Amino acid sequence: SKEEVLALRKKYLSPSLFLHFKRPVMIVEGKQQYLFDERGRRFLDAFAGIVTVSVGHCHPEVVAATNAQAGLLQHTTTIYLNHQIAEYAKELADRMPGDLKVVYFVNSGSEANDMALMLARAYTGNYDIIALRNAYHGLSGDTMGLCGQHTWKQPVPQGFGVRHALNPDPYRGPFGNDGKRYAEDVADVIRGATSGRVAGFIAETIQGVGGATPLADGYLPEVYRTVREAGGICIADEVQTGFGRTGDAYWGFQLQGVQPDIVTMAKGIGNGLPLAAVVTTPAVAEALTKRIHFNTFGGNPMCSAGGRAVLRVIDRERIQQRCADVGSHLLGRLRALQSKHSIIGDVRGKGLMVGVELVKDRGTKEPATAELNEAFESMKDAGVLMGKGGLHGNVFRVKPPMCFSREDADFLVDVMDHALTKL
Ligand code: PMP
Repeated sequence: SKEEVLALRKKYLSPSLFLHFKRPVMIVEGKQQYLFDERGRRFLDAFAGIVTVSVGHCHPEVVAATNAQAGLLQHTTTIYLNHQIAEYAKELADRMPGDLKVVYFVNSGSEANDMALMLARAYTGNYDIIALRNAYHGLSGDTMGLCGQHTWKQPVPQGFGVRHALNPDPYRGPFGNDGKRYAEDVADVIRGATSGRVAGFIAETIQGVGGATPLADGYLPEVYRTVREAGGICIADEVQTGFGRTGDAYWGFQLQGVQPDIVTMAKGIGNGLPLAAVVTTPAVAEALTKRIHFNTFGGNPMCSAGGRAVLRVIDRERIQQRCADVGSHLLGRLRALQSKHSIIGDVRGKGLMVGVELVKDRGTKEPATAELNEAFESMKDAGVLMGKGGLHGNVFRVKPPMCFSREDADFLVDVMDHALTKL
């Protein structure tokens, strides 16, 4: 029963874990954009296992490819040749612009970003990394230090050489949507807090955990130029924004027209399989060849087979197009809802990466965190599982499996309308 599972979890799992709801939900099955509890009740999943189930829960093609490989060969590591990892690397590289052609497979977003930091430092010979306030790039030793949100930071030594720059947040930042003005802060940080030389800069183009916050227009081209002038290279974290989710582009960085030197990907890449990757240029990759670098599970045949199926499904089911279409419908309906409920301070995002920020007052923008939690719970009771985030925990995050339909979007907005009216 749910109570027994809860008791086991309390006794044997980390007490630092958190549950999404006061009245917890137990999930035993998933199909497409739906999750089912132990009684067979269906929920619309608007959060996709934290933006991870990209092409739909238990997509038959991904399941079939993974199972077939599991029955043939699950694992050997890269000390032997196997076609899955090699073909997968080519298929991923084919989807990257420019000379981003060398792939490292790892197992999680944190590992991918750790690897990216190491590559940037090894390649440039510099140490300092610039990240953004409000950033989230993982919780490993190195990546926790990149984090710009107090919620996730343990009181342990972290963030050596990491400098945080002003967050280019169009809603809460001091310069509105003027990316160039925020970019000046990066130059200030480099001048004031480093030796003047840096290893790299890392950002998501739309901050995920940070509350579906798009970086202000024109920010990345200026920052990439500034960072490169200071000897650094540029890392795009595509853990949430990649694989077409933003609708207008396959990769988030393309929304701002930049070309990174390193791209990290995880979550949606495997539709739930433990799989992640770092893609970089041959020149950067050369920097690690003085020693062997190796990852036991990275890109094992089973995960590679599943990851390859995800790529095929994204192409064949025209997932990016769907994100653009359903996302603009969803944004339109949410903006209409904003004119009805003054508690909605901001509606933002692109494609199926959308944020709805609740505030007590549109002038002061005081976060309406308690209100969000209440609406969050009542939306769940009505059958919609939302995500939440942002520095103040007052942002609804809508990042469903990318097979989400217009009808799903309508249902979600109607349920949100009802929940906000009840408040
Ligand atoms: N980068 C981003 C943008 C993320 O959202 C996350 C996870 N929420 C990570 C990195 C870390 O991924 P993982 O939890 O797989 O280590």
